Amino acid sequence: MRVTTAFSRLLRLSGVWVRDVQFEPDRVVVEVALCRRRLICPECGYATVARKDTRPQHSVWRHLDLGVWRLEVHCRRRRLWCPVHGARTEQVPFARAGSQFTRDFEGLVAWLATRTDKSTIRRMLRIDWDTVGRIIERVCEQELDGDRLEDLYDIGVDEVSWKRQHNYLTLVACHQRRQIVWGCEGKGQAAADRFFEELNQRPGERALGCCPPPAIMTPCGPGASVPIDAGAQDASLLESKDTGPQVFARASRLRAVSMDMTGGYAKSVRTNAPQATICIDPYHVVALANQALDEVRRSYWNELRSLGDQNAAKRFKDARWSLLKKPEKLTDTQAATLSRLKAAGGEVWRAYELKEAVRGIFQAGLDLDDVTVLIDRLLSRLSRSRLTPFVKLGKTIRKHRDGILAAIRLGINQGRTEALNNKVRLITRRAYGFHSAKAVLALVLLTCGPITLHLPHELHAHETG
Ligand SMILES: [Zn+2]
Repeated sequence: MRVTTAFSRLLRLSGVWVRDVQFEPDRVVVEVALCRRRLICPECGYATVARKDTRPQHSVWRHLDLGVWRLEVHCRRRRLWCPVHGARTEQVPFARAGSQFTRDFEGLVAWLATRTDKSTIRRMLRIDWDTVGRIIERVCEQELDGDRLEDLYDIGVDEVSWKRQHNYLTLVACHQRRQIVWGCEGKGQAAADRFFEELNQRPGERALGCCPPPAIMTPCGPGASVPIDAGAQDASLLESKDTGPQVFARASRLRAVSMDMTGGYAKSVRTNAPQATICIDPYHVVALANQALDEVRRSYWNELRSLGDQNAAKRFKDARWSLLKKPEKLTDTQAATLSRLKAAGGEVWRAYELKEAVRGIFQAGLDLDDVTVLIDRLLSRLSRSRLTPFVKLGKTIRKHRDGILAAIRLGINQGRTEALNNKVRLITRRAYGFHSAKAVLALVLLTCGPITLHLPHELHAHETG
């Protein structure tokens, strides 16, 4: 077997044949040529046989390593003239537009990024973390399910901070599918407005600029280039803006939107989906109770320290997790610490009991009547608690009582929301090193979104030869 034939079979790059193979000291260079005659615009898929020229130098892509060898694919690419995008270097079938890596390599990076940490990926694949970020942005854009905004009924809007609390992502979850279906940089009303804008766009409308419908692409086989009627495209864009909101308003099908108690998202929902019931995620109510408990604990600890009792203060600081974790999840040592806190009594123990009472409202198996009784009993307990953070918590809960009860009535499940939230927070922590919000968002969507990632050998499993 000739070495070029051997490499053709080894590499399994679609749409090319291997012209030459060179072994250099630190890498294997495989030169390939495209099988097809037609040139494809990387932006829009426009096809033509008319070549503008050929680029003077090789384009280079990194492919999966071959044993210990770094493997590069080299190809002389032609340029075409796209009626929409002008002069462009032709698209190749084995790599995404604008990438210096093959699809197989990017698939491996994306799969690893959703499962393992930064240093493992960097060392194993010999790429830096921002390169990982750019790769997963591309993979996310192409592989995310295009229908993910269809059939949304109960959704949750929430923000998550990344990189030192100043940067936020707003994420939209589908409660039925337990997936994150949408996200953007920023938070509050403006971010939610952006979601609704996209939700109400006619399917495919957003894609028009970069990906025209197939009708204007050339039919198969060699032929003259087919011009795109730009005028018609503009007209259809205008028309869809006129008819879009009435005909395609997917927001009008939303039944419930759950959120936290800060209010920014609620304003947007009332404007864009007035029929939807605004619910307060039980998850956020419990989180606020935990914050109140932590405030009481901290001020008590500061008091001890100011009294000069360094040891007690230290013991108390270590008790933080005993207080904040769910009792059923405590380790033996933490449980013992909790017993000691109980014996000591005082403000911290009262705060702990109040926090548990808040959590108790959302326990599984309670119906709406039970919860209504419990919440009203809790509200009077909180207002009489004489612990400032809990009195404040009581006021917040009272203000959002209807939204909390709506969540119970509509079955917005605390366990599920919390599980998804914890997963998202874990991912954003791993994504701290990224410099762009888009990369963080891509990692969240790849991990918690409507997407299935495959490893290269799984993608090629059906191929033979
Ligand atoms: Zn184009």
